[in-house]
Amino acid sequence: MCPGGAGCGSVSTDGLAGARAAAESGRSGDLRYSRAVPTYDRRTALVIIDVQNDFADPAGSLSVKGADAIVPRVTAEAWTAIRSGAFVVYTQDWHPPSTPHFEKDGGIWPVHCVQDTWGAAFHPALDVLGPWVRKGTNGEDGYSGFTMRDPVSGAEVPTELEGLLRVRGIENVVIAGLATDYCINATGLDAIRLGFRTEVLEDAIAAVDLRAGDAERAIAELHAAGCEFSISAVGRRGAGAERDAAPAGRG
Ligand SMILES: [Zn+2]
Repeated sequence: MCPGGAGCGSVSTDGLAGARAAAESGRSGDLRYSRAVPTYDRRTALVIIDVQNDFADPAGSLSVKGADAIVPRVTAEAWTAIRSGAFVVYTQDWHPPSTPHFEKDGGIWPVHCVQDTWGAAFHPALDVLGPWVRKGTNGEDGYSGFTMRDPVSGAEVPTELEGLLRVRGIENVVIAGLATDYCINATGLDAIRLGFRTEVLEDAIAAVDLRAGDAERAIAELHAAGCEFSISAVGRRGAGAERDAAPAGRG
């Protein structure tokens, strides 16, 4: 049912893209808040948000500037987390062909991440090492990996993500992916609200920046809410470290 994952869910969020400066530079010296690499263990989950072709490939319909550059880094981080016994889980924006989420149907976004299309597929450089949760499956708006919103009633609906974390006794959540100013921001704020100790990998995200400063505001909002910021293992070790982190043959 789920193309390659165990226990995938059917949830829907929106992934746009995030922290441009971090993605483009990848140098820890340019990052505002990051101080350390995360500690991965059995109480920690790496939550990888919406690393899908429409967001992460330059040819995608909602391509996020700098997003393709973070994908090898996210893959390397997933392997680092798995080797330390952490849980790795993914989200996918997964829309029907028509939804009030899309501009053509009254929303604000170009058509993106339509179910079972190239745009909705995970980016080919992303290694999928755990289950995934799909958001927007029934036409909901969904930016957070944890919750979706019914576009008609406005009611919030939980995705399967929290349950996947609770059943494993997860206490710490580390977030990477796309996009900083939408899904990363919303997922981080929800994780904090739900009581998880929450970190964002500041060099493994990228922003849409629809308006100048959106990424910076999103990061500042997370920081004010109590989110911590970390550097990916690759970012810590420097350029080229992606090749060492993934198993042989993977980039
Ligand atoms: Zn969407």
